[in-house]
Amino acid sequence: MRPDRDYIIQLLSTEGKEALQALYDKAYSVKKQFVGTTVYFRGLIELSNICAKNCYYCGIRSGNPDFERYQMSFEEALKEAKWCYDNHYGSLVIQAGEREDKPWTDFITRLITSIKEVTKGKLGITLSLGEQTEQIYRQWFQAGAHRYLLRIETTNQELYKKLHPADHSFEQRLNCLRTIKKIGYQVGTGIMVGLPEQTIANIADDILFFYDEDVDMLGMGPFIPHHGTPLKHLVDGFSNEKALELGLKLIATCRIVLKDVNIATTTALQALHPEGRELGLLAGANILMPNITDTKFREGYQLYDGKPCLDENANMCQGCLSRRIASIGETIGFDQWGDSKHFSPSK
Ligand code: SAM
Ligand code: SF4
Repeated sequence: MRPDRDYIIQLLSTEGKEALQALYDKAYSVKKQFVGTTVYFRGLIELSNICAKNCYYCGIRSGNPDFERYQMSFEEALKEAKWCYDNHYGSLVIQAGEREDKPWTDFITRLITSIKEVTKGKLGITLSLGEQTEQIYRQWFQAGAHRYLLRIETTNQELYKKLHPADHSFEQRLNCLRTIKKIGYQVGTGIMVGLPEQTIANIADDILFFYDEDVDMLGMGPFIPHHGTPLKHLVDGFSNEKALELGLKLIATCRIVLKDVNIATTTALQALHPEGRELGLLAGANILMPNITDTKFREGYQLYDGKPCLDENANMCQGCLSRRIASIGETIGFDQWGDSKHFSPSK
């Protein structure tokens, strides 16, 4: 049944320590019932910070000249994928700025094919490479990728227009999401919360959108301002506590009303609090995306100010992560894809 909008607004409006704890506890019991307490890892490879787009909130937007652009070599990317496999991660996420040129789309196809080869088809591959043509989405699916993350960012079209240049189209993004679904990918989307002028009612409508579009996975997080963007005036006065609370409320509300989707506890939460990602798991998330990008590239992939673990390599992150997850009584689903229970290929 379609969730009730007023109920979603009520959940998102929860205030006060005790009421918030009760919200997170309720979400956790729904999570236990519908998806369990195994956390699935997706090793995150930040393949390139070259982007043709200029989203006003994003630190690596094309209009920011203040840092060097990089693209990982084929060998480097493959080495990181192999690391993921050798360390028993079930899946990886390949993320980058958006590019549609042929050298890039061919590079990705070749990379997916090789990752499948070197991991004997066992490593799950999620892509987060922005808007592409149907033909390219198909090409990558046929090469072996099976999940795609494309955040809608906000479903309020007025707000969408304010956050993007005129040639970035909400409709096109929506069409891409539907194409991805049609092809057979597990579909992930999401939003940022705490955007300027965004209301609780807007967020409730976003959650109804997730329901209506029947999405399988959610990657959502607080908006965090970056000094090199048109939204830099929001850096002063930004409250980590408020952003974290809103991010956790969003996860909990989505878990309560959408029940069986995969929900990621994102790096943006960790940027706001050292234990932000564990708090995300306790509020209902079940997917974690450890950053396995070589530290030499991390400085170049700063979407927002205060990105965590800039100089921590994947092995170091790995040790502290396992301890942190054990400390909250959850287990890690090593060597498993951890597909969304919501997904059914026949749908
Ligand atoms: N370029 C692809 C795309 O936009 O779909 C994938 C990479 S993009 C960096 C991944 C996500 O980063 C975006 O969907 C956006 O929600 C998030 N992001 C960008 N700037 C952000 C910010 N300042 N705070 C929080 N998240 C941000
Ligand atoms: Fe590029 Fe994605 Fe950042 Fe937009 S959010 S500027 S598409 S990397």
